[in-house]
Amino acid sequence: GSTIGIIGGGQLGRMLAIAAAQLGYRTAIYAPETSGPAADVSSRWVRGDYDDLDALHAFAQSVDVITYEFENIPVAPLEALRVPLAPHPRALATAQDRATEKAFVQAIGGRPAPWAVVNGREDLDAAVAQIGAPAILKTRRFGYDGKGQARLKDAADADEAWASIAWEPAVLEGFVRFEREFSILIVRGADGTTLTWDPVLNVHEDGILALSTVPVALPEATVAAAKALAAKIVAELDYVGVLAIEYFDTAEGPVFNEMAPRVHNSGHWTIEGAVTSQFENHIRAICGLPLGSTALAAPRVEMRNLIGSQAGDWDLILSDPAAHLHLYGKGQARPGRKMGHVTKLFFD
Ligand code: ATP
Ligand code: MG
Ligand code: MG
Repeated sequence: GSTIGIIGGGQLGRMLAIAAAQLGYRTAIYAPETSGPAADVSSRWVRGDYDDLDALHAFAQSVDVITYEFENIPVAPLEALRVPLAPHPRALATAQDRATEKAFVQAIGGRPAPWAVVNGREDLDAAVAQIGAPAILKTRRFGYDGKGQARLKDAADADEAWASIAWEPAVLEGFVRFEREFSILIVRGADGTTLTWDPVLNVHEDGILALSTVPVALPEATVAAAKALAAKIVAELDYVGVLAIEYFDTAEGPVFNEMAPRVHNSGHWTIEGAVTSQFENHIRAICGLPLGSTALAAPRVEMRNLIGSQAGDWDLILSDPAAHLHLYGKGQARPGRKMGHVTKLFFD
């Protein structure tokens, strides 16, 4: 059988490997750590740095196709690999820098919050003058779970905000007064077929995704615009696989927040809650197989993240027979660490 190489060995890699195994594929993980959540469900774990070209070449020779579950990988070494790689590294390059990503989305007709590049302290004053306050300063690269961000109430917060993100190159974004946050998960097959799952309502706590529910009551025009932009993004990037887009729902329509060129936490509900999960369709797409239906498997679905010590109460969680418990095998719970999730389907 064929082997799928996955770069990154966290919970997304774990769930991709499980989906791949179901379809009869072997998986090999490439990651800088010595082990991780994907280790016990894949055939092989190769320890290597993301920029170690020799190690990456050797890994590529041992697999039939490569994908990734982590977006902060240097793009140049990936582009040098002589093995099918999906999604295209261009998608990574676009999404791993907030400035590049917003410029790209704007160029194809999407609407991010008002934003400006802040590469130095002087840029920040100009950006606050241009965008106004309140605003959010975000590092251009490496941010996740709300890390690398600082909020500015007014111009007087500039020094503190700039210091708190460690003077990294950043973007300043206008604060969006949204009704709710939602995401669109889209998959594009090797033949260009695209399917989207139902829009997902997302609730964040302390910048970390806490709860995802489906369906969401959204204006029809908002859903149409959000899906149209998603389709345009994957077409433009000649994308193969699953891509997630986070939106703010506002009275003026969807505002683009950010995208992830990979399977996404707000799509974990699809494992039980959709006919085909995001993980299975990602594997199908990168292996050139037909895509499975993205239809809902129940009228209403809910996914809760188990963060930090929330994962400890298994008895309580499983006392609800409708609960599907997923644990990532991470060992030690730390505050803010995603340890697992629970999905429930509702039929009433
Ligand atoms: P993720 O883990 O989703 O990758 P991240 O660290 O990239 O998170 P963002 O998605 O940019 O962070 O922001 C985290 C949360 O902060 C958003 O989901 C939203 O609740 C809030 N937020 C971010 N940007 C804005 C904005 N411009 N206006 C209002 N709220 C915002
Ligand atoms: Mg992000
Ligand atoms: Mg986000």
